[in-house]
Amino acid sequence: MIANTSTLPAPLKSNAFALTNAFAWNRPACMVRALFLLKDRPMPGYVIAPPPVSSVPVATTAGGGAFPVRRVFCVGRNYAEHAREMGADPDRELPFFFTKPADALVINDADMPYPSLTSNLHHEMELVVAIGTGGKDIAEADALSHVWGYAAGLDMTRRDLQNAAKKEGKPWDMGKGFDHSAPIGSIVPASALPNPTAGKIELKVNGIVRQTSDLSKLIWSVAETIAYLSKLVELAPGDLIFTGTPEGVAAVVKGDLLEGTVEGVGSVTVKIV
Ligand code: MN
Repeated sequence: MIANTSTLPAPLKSNAFALTNAFAWNRPACMVRALFLLKDRPMPGYVIAPPPVSSVPVATTAGGGAFPVRRVFCVGRNYAEHAREMGADPDRELPFFFTKPADALVINDADMPYPSLTSNLHHEMELVVAIGTGGKDIAEADALSHVWGYAAGLDMTRRDLQNAAKKEGKPWDMGKGFDHSAPIGSIVPASALPNPTAGKIELKVNGIVRQTSDLSKLIWSVAETIAYLSKLVELAPGDLIFTGTPEGVAAVVKGDLLEGTVEGVGSVTVKIV
């Protein structure tokens, strides 16, 4: 099964469908049929049907439901050993960010198709922060109060395209923000991880550990990252932040099973197909 996002409940998918549900019990059958004929028309005011809202399931142990996603931010080079393996100096730069489209998310246990135009697809295992309360110029001391929850995620990367872009001073977008590039596990509420400054982060590929580190090695902590990013953009409810990957990034191929865990948060599982 290939599924990149879950969507809003079916009755909200189209205006006509919603109307059908609302009036099905007290309108003549012919009107219901007419509404069904209209169901593929765009909602009033839109010239095409509006795209579905991407969302990530909340862990059933936390009551379930869906976390709607607005934007996906990612931090570059936020663990020193990974920065070094990428040829950078971790001691000399402020955090920097790139983005992925919200519909690049691959919900836990779905398959990720091996992307086009690459022969070097890398895994990057990361802690993901889900913003519940927006804001700009958020103080570091207040930053964690803006977090709704956390998830385990994978910043999948077409490393060959990213490296070529870096070399030429071009944007990373097509190396990072491609379709299905952001597998993610269920979100747990922030109360599950009151202090996201320590905890094991690990990725196994086909049962063998490829990446292992600890959140205490984040160069820019979750609070510092939120505070700094909120100076660059006004954060909003529904924003996700992939906080960066530890060392050990490497290529995967079709058929590989990736299983990542973040202590206190949960796991993300995806098969490359
Ligand atoms: Mn990353």
